[in-house]
Amino acid sequence: MGKNTILSGMRPTGRLHLGHLSVLENWRRFQEKYNCYFMVANWHALTTAFDDPGLTVQATKDMVLDWLMVGLDPEQSAIFVQSEVKEHAELNLLLSLITPLSWLERCPTYKDQVQQFREQGKDITTYGFLGYPLLMAADIIIYKANLVPVGEDQLPHLEFCREVVRRFNHLYKQDVFPEPAACLDKVAMIPGLDGRKMSKSYGNEIPLYSNPEEIAARVRMMVTDPQRIHAHDPGRPEICTVYSFHRVFNRSAAEEVEQGCIKGEIGCVSCKKSLVKALIERLSPCWERRRELEQNPDYVWDVLNEGNRLARGKASQTMEEVRAAMGFEVPGSS
Ligand code: SF4
Repeated sequence: MGKNTILSGMRPTGRLHLGHLSVLENWRRFQEKYNCYFMVANWHALTTAFDDPGLTVQATKDMVLDWLMVGLDPEQSAIFVQSEVKEHAELNLLLSLITPLSWLERCPTYKDQVQQFREQGKDITTYGFLGYPLLMAADIIIYKANLVPVGEDQLPHLEFCREVVRRFNHLYKQDVFPEPAACLDKVAMIPGLDGRKMSKSYGNEIPLYSNPEEIAARVRMMVTDPQRIHAHDPGRPEICTVYSFHRVFNRSAAEEVEQGCIKGEIGCVSCKKSLVKALIERLSPCWERRRELEQNPDYVWDVLNEGNRLARGKASQTMEEVRAAMGFEVPGSS
């Protein structure tokens, strides 16, 4: 039996933060086992940032450099830009002809996100935004991916994709597409500096590509247990952002930190210093790699050009099957 195929992607939002690290480390492991397609989802970014067209070129470069410094390997995986593989748009169009509107309207995240953006004064109720789960389905099945790394909250989107596959295969009486399954790999959830979800839009993130001074400064800003005034006051690690980080990035010392905090045996300053040390140890090899990569300013574009070529090859093969299944073959056309 051949290897399974995985597709995953991220919107190009520029420099990534520590909240992305665990996802990228999963991707790095996938490369050993699966055929991997990692996509810069720039069309998806435009579903909400359609008024910011300059956003994507520098953001793409920054994000892909972060992917590479963490260990994504262009020799093992196709790393590509969605908009450079036009077949995604064709498949999205064809699928839109067979997808009932009600399937999209009942997607649980649609109304939530529309509401969130409305509160920020932005109307995203476009045709494209309503249809983005279908574009995601096209992104996945055009590579015949049979595994998709998703979090629990994205399972409805994957189920939607599976429904679209079943409908297509049933309507055209051919198993052109496999039904992709969820790959529920563990993703470590870490909060932002202020305890909310880590997000650039909240300004509470720690950038993945950074330096020791910036890491130390950001960790100093982390919210701790507000009831702890003196180093010997008993603390509540379960409500402390610093402790959440120790559990993910300094696992071997997390229990000692927990007990030291509860018993009032460690102070927050030294607790933060030990976290800074652990973060620097974990991230330094990545920073070193990124500095090497940046020596060649064209490297990212070379990686993407090759990835685009590989992705196009697979996508165009699939589209030939799709067109044939739907009866689009015109005699004599090439
Ligand atoms: S000792 Fe550490 S875990 Fe406890 S409140 Fe201070 S920073 Fe948080």
